[in-house]
Amino acid sequence: MPMSAPMATTTNSRTENPALLRDSGKPGRDCPLCPRLAAFRNGWRKREPGWFNAPVASFGAKDARLLIVGLAPGLQGANRTGRPFTGDYAGDLLYATLIEFGFARGVFAARPDDSLELVDARITNGVRCVPPENKPTPQEINTCRGFLTATIGEMKNLRAIVALGRVAHDTAVTAMGVRKSAAPFKHGGRNAIGDLALFDSYHCSRYNTNTGVLTPAMFHSVFAEVRDYLNADQSASSSASQSGAKAGSITSRT
Ligand code: SF4
Repeated sequence: MPMSAPMATTTNSRTENPALLRDSGKPGRDCPLCPRLAAFRNGWRKREPGWFNAPVASFGAKDARLLIVGLAPGLQGANRTGRPFTGDYAGDLLYATLIEFGFARGVFAARPDDSLELVDARITNGVRCVPPENKPTPQEINTCRGFLTATIGEMKNLRAIVALGRVAHDTAVTAMGVRKSAAPFKHGGRNAIGDLALFDSYHCSRYNTNTGVLTPAMFHSVFAEVRDYLNADQSASSSASQSGAKAGSITSRT
């Protein structure tokens, strides 16, 4: 298994945090918990009644081993279409990369009714409602974290998280009950948090790619490492279960 980035380790585990075991990571369409975001959302419902204009639910199956955490829906992206990273530039790079590394299949056409399916992966946002100028306040991030915590807690096969940007990283780390200083953000870095590996990338926004902060090659390299990690994890699990089966069969014969 390539180990290009050293993995920092923390002792906390999502399984040690009872708050993570709640069963619902989905806010209602009219979630009122962030008044500023609710007002912004309602304003866009009036301006663009054909848009989704509601908290955007996670995309992908709960039994996936990989969770990708973004910042928040883009105004004309997920807020318009209702599917994370669908309808703006960030999704073009993200979904092309997921298809390349086997985490998605089908055709991505930037619409929720395209044929795209995620494979062993799920996508969510740290903040579920579109914020003005793509900037949620710290309080809004804190408030919406309950839904992220529940999303992580309900994914029983989860093995890896990719955080897109520092805000997504910090809220994911906090959601898992770990101090931010124990698992700092670094593009291309990896932290072990209990039984999970947390990978970091700069956010795949148009701004970051236009300014050269993130190149497609840099982004691909993060997902190549995630793919290697999950493949190695699966091989280790298969070997362990085969050893267990052999030991069981020897035991049953003796
Ligand atoms: S951002 Fe999250 S907590 Fe805040 S109103 Fe939207 S769904 Fe509710």
